[in-house]
Amino acid sequence: MDEIFEQLLHLSARTETLIAVYDGHDRLRYANSAFRSVYFIEPDETPLWPDLMRRNFELRRGTVIQTSNFDEWLRSTQSRRGKMGYRAFETDLCDGRWFWMTEAVQKNGWMLCIASDITSLRAHGRTVRQDRDQAIKASYTDELTGVSNRRFVMARVDDMLATAQHGDNGCLAVFDIDNFKHINDRLGHHAGDVVLRDFAHRIHQNVRRNDCFGRVGGEEFLLVMPATGPEDAIAMVECMLTVIRFSRPLPESPDFSYTCSAGIATCVPSESASDLYRRADQALYAAKLSGRDRVRAA
Ligand code: GH3
Ligand code: MG
Ligand code: MG
Repeated sequence: MDEIFEQLLHLSARTETLIAVYDGHDRLRYANSAFRSVYFIEPDETPLWPDLMRRNFELRRGTVIQTSNFDEWLRSTQSRRGKMGYRAFETDLCDGRWFWMTEAVQKNGWMLCIASDITSLRAHGRTVRQDRDQAIKASYTDELTGVSNRRFVMARVDDMLATAQHGDNGCLAVFDIDNFKHINDRLGHHAGDVVLRDFAHRIHQNVRRNDCFGRVGGEEFLLVMPATGPEDAIAMVECMLTVIRFSRPLPESPDFSYTCSAGIATCVPSESASDLYRRADQALYAAKLSGRDRVRAA
């Protein structure tokens, strides 16, 4: 085994294929020289993925990122990055090269990225593919908050239920902002939108790699937590409610604060996504009835 590992390392230093491994915190833990050269990473550097992307974006090198707002791009990309066991996509570099990138993720959050240069292969039809990728991204993103939308997050609920068949039970949390209608009525729809964005961004910052968070409607959000027991799920959601309680999202009303309630259901193998959602929703309703700003589990 040691010999194979050693040879693998030597070989990966020679190949022009890009190879990198990120840990569950999205820190680069290994990258071969091809990967380091494409993304301008020093031999001993182990940057966090968001820091690496930001640095290259600012210096206009590495991946082409078509946005005027890097943080928005980051949020939308992170809300999908590493949430599926495997994905493959095309990515273009500022120097004109074009790569076919694959990402494989383990349950512990570690990710293997492998990319090959396909510039000569696929120059034809590039704009069409870029437009298509842009459209696919939009179809999975909530426009107001930039996090995943209902379609994407519900597909992750289905994924979680599929793995629950093998005993890896997970939890689903439904969040609903408290008295949101009152916030809109008192401070205006624009302030309401600011609160929605604040909520999405703060929760998003506390979401683990294998979990998926998205907006499913008005002021309602879902958090999918595969392979997580109810105690851990409750503890995590309680932390999130605390983060929200301390938020002051409106500079023009510095004392304004808001809260949210949450309901959690543990998935039962062979249950449908809508049954699981219904049970989480019932728990949410219990949280609302018992005074709001709290979490209840079904
Ligand atoms: P509860 O604590 O029981 O959840 O009360 P609530 O007022 O939050 O619940 P309700 O479902 O009655 O109100 C939700 C409001 O959310 C109503 C709707 O006008 C508002 N809303 C839905 N989508 C948006 C949006 O995109 N932006 C803004 N500003 N408001 C929205
Ligand atoms: Mg609601
Ligand atoms: Mg509400």
